[in-house]
Amino acid sequence: VKTIRALLLLSVALSLPSIATGGPDPAKIIAVTIDDLPFVGYGLGLGETAAYTDRLLQPLAGRNIQAVGFVNERNVLIPGEMDARTGLLKKWIDRGMILGNHTFSHLDSNATSLQEYEADIIRGGTVTGILQKASAGAPRYFRHPMNHRGKTPEYRAAVDQFLAAAGYSAVPFTIENSDYLFAYVYAAAVKAGDRELAGRVMRAYLEFTEVICGWMEQQAAEAFGRPIPHVLLIHANALNSDGLDALLDLLEKRGYAFAPLGRVMSDPAYQTPDGYTGAAGPSWIYRWQLSLGKPSGLKGEPEPPEWIVREFEARRKASAVRRPEGSSGLS
Ligand SMILES: [Zn+2]
Repeated sequence: VKTIRALLLLSVALSLPSIATGGPDPAKIIAVTIDDLPFVGYGLGLGETAAYTDRLLQPLAGRNIQAVGFVNERNVLIPGEMDARTGLLKKWIDRGMILGNHTFSHLDSNATSLQEYEADIIRGGTVTGILQKASAGAPRYFRHPMNHRGKTPEYRAAVDQFLAAAGYSAVPFTIENSDYLFAYVYAAAVKAGDRELAGRVMRAYLEFTEVICGWMEQQAAEAFGRPIPHVLLIHANALNSDGLDALLDLLEKRGYAFAPLGRVMSDPAYQTPDGYTGAAGPSWIYRWQLSLGKPSGLKGEPEPPEWIVREFEARRKASAVRRPEGSSGLS
């Protein structure tokens, strides 16, 4: 029996070109997902936003990565700017990306009635639906804003059912790097022409991404006893437009190959139930740890550098702008 199993494993191994050629570990694949499209601009004009969008898409297209961008159509359907803002989304389609629904207005399901939430989902798929028809057959993806799934099991189940009936797959994430904190300070530094600070923020961002990747890989191994494919969550902002190439390099150096979201989500780990019932929006790895009866690593998660948090809080207070998750406007 052992021999047969060994032969079977060998034949599987031989059928995977990546192993035969000594390429990346097939378990070490990662999908890139980018939230809050068209763009979190912190006051950038439409022209600048278009240039930043090109820069964000360039390293993805250059590496043949099919990222999924999650759209808040509230920030597309703005009178007088609809064409320009739809044009930003069209850039994604033209470069082979997939657009997903992130609700119309970035609603927090923890604070929204079921009816209102479902209406916002329907309303959130209008423009992307039209654009996506040009690339027919594209999967329909949905991501909960703030990764909040609602306060009660009944609410969560109702939304799941609603999404399934509408043909949407709800998309989890496993790795995120608190990019919105860095992005806010970065945008302010760029605006002020402070290159030294912008450079420092970028270096800290990439260093923290490295730390969080290592941590989440370890959490996955503790949950499943093996490496699992990952879903990276970042946002459409200037920090990533300027830093995505380096970030993707960093992931490749860690041994990752980039894969479409559908392929990553077909890993059996992604069938694990979400065992998290709290109000926050943590990585699905912690949720899976809970439903698998494993200790959750959530409380031990590495924090972003203190100086970044401090700069973020100070600047946010000064300009009284809400967190990007709550107001992903361009304006
Ligand atoms: Zn969001």
